[in-house]
Amino acid sequence: MTSKSAAAAARSTVYGYPRQGPHRELKKAVEGYWKGRVTADALRDTAVRLRRATWQHLADAGIHEVPTGDFSYYDHVLDTSVMVGAIPRRHREAVGTDPLDGYFAMARGTQDVAPLEMTKWFDTNYHYLVPELGPDTVFSADSAKQVAELKEALTLGLAARPVLVGPVTYLLLAKPAPGVAADFEPLTLLDRLLPVYAEVLADLRAAGAEWVQLDEPALVQDRTPAALNAVARAYRDLGALTDRPRLLVASYFGRLGDALPVLAKAPVEGLALDFTESAASQLEDLAAVGGLPGKRLVAGVVNGRNIWINDLSKSLSTLGTLLGLADRVDVSASCSLLHVPLDSTAERDIDPQIARWLAFAHQKTAEIATLARGLVQGTGAITAELAANRADLASRSGSALTHDPAVRSRVAAVTDADARRAHAYPERAAAQRTRLGLPLLPTTTIGSFPQTTELRTARADLRAGRIDTAGYEDRIRAEIREVIAFQEKAGIDVLVHGEPERNDMVQYFAEQLTGYLATQHGWVQSYGTRYVRPPVLAGDISRPEPMTVRWTAYAGSLTDRPVKGMLTGPVTMLAWSFVRDDQPLGDTARQVALALRDEVNDLESAGTSVIQVDEPALRETLPLRAAEHAAYLDWATASFRLTTSGVRPDTQIHTHMCYAEFGDIVRAIDDLDADVISLEAARSHMQVARELAEHGYPREAGPGVYDIHSPRIPSAEEAAALLRKGLEAIPADRLWVNPDCGLKTRGWPETRASLQNLVAAAREVRSEL
Ligand code: GLN
Ligand code: ZN
Repeated sequence: MTSKSAAAAARSTVYGYPRQGPHRELKKAVEGYWKGRVTADALRDTAVRLRRATWQHLADAGIHEVPTGDFSYYDHVLDTSVMVGAIPRRHREAVGTDPLDGYFAMARGTQDVAPLEMTKWFDTNYHYLVPELGPDTVFSADSAKQVAELKEALTLGLAARPVLVGPVTYLLLAKPAPGVAADFEPLTLLDRLLPVYAEVLADLRAAGAEWVQLDEPALVQDRTPAALNAVARAYRDLGALTDRPRLLVASYFGRLGDALPVLAKAPVEGLALDFTESAASQLEDLAAVGGLPGKRLVAGVVNGRNIWINDLSKSLSTLGTLLGLADRVDVSASCSLLHVPLDSTAERDIDPQIARWLAFAHQKTAEIATLARGLVQGTGAITAELAANRADLASRSGSALTHDPAVRSRVAAVTDADARRAHAYPERAAAQRTRLGLPLLPTTTIGSFPQTTELRTARADLRAGRIDTAGYEDRIRAEIREVIAFQEKAGIDVLVHGEPERNDMVQYFAEQLTGYLATQHGWVQSYGTRYVRPPVLAGDISRPEPMTVRWTAYAGSLTDRPVKGMLTGPVTMLAWSFVRDDQPLGDTARQVALALRDEVNDLESAGTSVIQVDEPALRETLPLRAAEHAAYLDWATASFRLTTSGVRPDTQIHTHMCYAEFGDIVRAIDDLDADVISLEAARSHMQVARELAEHGYPREAGPGVYDIHSPRIPSAEEAAALLRKGLEAIPADRLWVNPDCGLKTRGWPETRASLQNLVAAAREVRSEL
């Protein structure tokens, strides 16, 4: 096919859409069902209505082929486990009795049965339920959901394409089921899984599917030759089927790299590639394999996971290049639009001048349709859209919000020395020891205390105008008094104010920093029915005034013991926001770091002797490809040090992180040069303490001895046993005693009892030293 006819055939599509509905109808229906207030039929009706509205919206917006099967009551990976019959043994009875209740039991657990584990979907903030597989796993096809949703869309008279998690990605995302050897590799089940996919494909074909999309995002990560082999085998076998729809293998979240030649050779009819992340190398790789002659190429040119408008001219030029490389080029977003909010026009509080820069799912859909039109009919058909887009882009790049000269010159003046403490650790440790006078095995907490209903109500009352600021602040001060009094009585050594004034550890700071925007309706699915509204880091970041000092200082005025100041670090501020895409992340991190550095210094001036800068997201933002890790960790750790290096040697800098595994970032943890780090460790029996020791970590550490993820109260003996384990790795003069993470999700009764036991454990183990 010539590139001209490839252009004439160009169409538009998306891989998936936000599920919740414009007013979070799905969340309400599902949660209502859990509470018994909504019947199963009513829940199904809501779902049908939402799906239909989405497809109709897409069709009306000019999208030629709509996705089906991307909808989910909870999670699409869980849906895939159901589709292939991978139901864990402990859930089979419930699923057999009532498939819907069984489904939710797998997602959330019940009184007696644990749910599937949940983890992050690649480097997004969406979480999926991890398939549990073992050598005994028997797969069986259940295509009912996929077939039903396809038929719903076909009934509307639309061209529809079922979207499935691909077999290789499904297996790569799985883990050994409980009781199965930890070194079991789910990928070894491929030959057993493929016939099930074959059956589903045949069912979809029979139901009228012309194309089926198989998502293989796991292939944008580094893969072993064995895994690449599995890809080749999987698509050779599926391609060889006679009774099947045409196959579109989709990749996203980066370039395919070594997997591209494998897929290009595979007997499938189409590939979907991401041209937003590493677009240039993706293009080079594609040219190097000789393009995709005879295949359909779906080009993800609109960023599906960030919220900025597309540069339409730039996308058209990418698409133009691609026309020569495939039989047919379709326009799409880089990934499912699940990761962005629904509609930026709902944001009435954002300055209209700035709202023009934003593209949520609806706006991205329009961009995709426009680009397809431009490709088919020539740019003359979209002159007005191109002109408006140019004006919007110019408004963004020329705005005072994105270019604050004061911020720019301050960042430009930063030196390496600014990101280094002036004194080496041993000197600091000695100065801090003298100033703080703490016992061996000092006790502390991670920051937040229970966010009670009363606190949340007070915040809602303030927003609704039912109480005034003074009334709200009285309430916060009362809470701080209670938190301080409890900690003193419990005998904790380094106190916290409890963070009662914070709605969220990122949003609270975003609301006070210039350069950040808040959305009213920008909900994005985090997992199941949990939706978050990430703030938008839109411009140059500065701090008009101190953000936390008065609360920390108030807490400090109530006690003679040290009260830790509590801040969210620059990496986490970026990780849990939508970030600007018009400059390198490291530059944005440096701006945030300087704003936070001022806060750190102000806390110190107000008499705070211990300051904690949380970086729970440091590891989760690690790039998907190992080759990019070093560059990321370099700017990430430097921005942390820039935040924390302006203080005196006798001011103690803490940091905190929480995930099960740290092994691969211990060096980066060391590079933070924090005086004390607290980490999640209770469930892994102090694994991280051993990892720090192996690395020769030279500073103080508090591996958590209290798992805060459940209401369970650890006994003093249990906490003491963990502490003794910690002492095997970390010497007594460098070991702290603390919970795994903040206590905001806990209730007061279990918090009180657990912390009392934690202090008792510390005292007991101290007496043994
Ligand atoms: N200081 C925060 C808290 O205690 C830390 C939260 C976190 O690590 N996610 O809530
Ligand atoms: Zn934490």
